[in-house]
Amino acid sequence: MAVREERAVWVEQAQDLQLAGKFSREDVEKIVEECAQLGATKILWLLKARVADTASVLWYGSKVGDAHPAAESYDGLDDLVQLARARGIEVHAYFSVFPEGDPNAKDLAAGQAVLAQHPEWAVVDVNGKPTTFVCAGQPGYREYLLNLVNEVLDAHDLDGIHLDFIRYPRAACFCDRCLGQIKERFGLDRDDVVGLLERREFTSLSYDERAIALHQADSLIDYYCENVHQTVKSVRELIDERFASKKLSAAVFPNIRSSTSQVYCDWVGFSQYLDFVCPMVYWYSEEYFHRTVERLHRVVEGKTLLLPGISALGYPHGLAEKNENFHPTAPDHDYVRTLIEDTRAIGTGGFALFHHAPIFGHEPGHYTQTEWGAPLPQEGLSEFLEYLAR
Ligand SMILES: [Zn+2]
Repeated sequence: MAVREERAVWVEQAQDLQLAGKFSREDVEKIVEECAQLGATKILWLLKARVADTASVLWYGSKVGDAHPAAESYDGLDDLVQLARARGIEVHAYFSVFPEGDPNAKDLAAGQAVLAQHPEWAVVDVNGKPTTFVCAGQPGYREYLLNLVNEVLDAHDLDGIHLDFIRYPRAACFCDRCLGQIKERFGLDRDDVVGLLERREFTSLSYDERAIALHQADSLIDYYCENVHQTVKSVRELIDERFASKKLSAAVFPNIRSSTSQVYCDWVGFSQYLDFVCPMVYWYSEEYFHRTVERLHRVVEGKTLLLPGISALGYPHGLAEKNENFHPTAPDHDYVRTLIEDTRAIGTGGFALFHHAPIFGHEPGHYTQTEWGAPLPQEGLSEFLEYLAR
């Protein structure tokens, strides 16, 4: 018997509808119906927001953290589980792990946001300024995250947890904890860290001096990566201990080299804890998509299931027509279909689509906005759905 192709679909329309004040069971029915038309096997349902101009980032009822006020009257989660299950579709709680939003935003009372209560958890940038990201090395935040996971799996009949933004921002963290650890373990100060990671003055070093500096830089990269690694490991351990049948997965950067050195996400290293992984191979040209996915397929084979993330967003990448690795125009249904066929040729066993609403032409709302919600041109939709139904 043929193994069923896995089709994961990210869904973030609930936030748009919640913010518009008109989210109901009928909307959840429609979303599930549309995911079924895509032949979805897994819905990755956003519950902790990616990035928003809000302080609160939970979009469901929780006692562990504060939900966005717009999510309080109806979060749709139990209806979703019921409706998706009836169609044989899994539901995974999709958490943007480390972004926590603006601690001073007005949607919550002053001092209520996570980073208002714990400013010491924030990633501090190179200029000493706190950011809206949380540092992966903060034990208190890890405990908060585990409490969220525990609560959501306990209270809802979900199939698993999907981690996004399981990384640092595109720079190192200079919070007090990181600087203390780095001083103690590697004897390096703040300025050393900046010099080593930004490669300042490397041009004046001999090859031997460079070797020493690169070892030091590696220690730093490894330190930050380990903070992320331990976070994923702790979620896996919680799931194994309390929710043995549930799955853990993550969305990650598609380039292994830059993922570790730029955002400190060594996901090949933590893929052992994942049931499936979705590298976000977004806006790549067909040729570069093929090359990337083929390599990743070999790297993770036997460790976890690879579901390459395909961008179904109706606008071109900033490097379109400037860099041959990127698709020269905005994605359309044909582009998505071509890449799906490529995953079949490579033999990944499935793919993931980012994301549901643009495929069906739903206009972006206040959460997704044009940047993350531009619809695909709709003339290709019916043919695309026919193709997926074959
Ligand atoms: Zn830090």
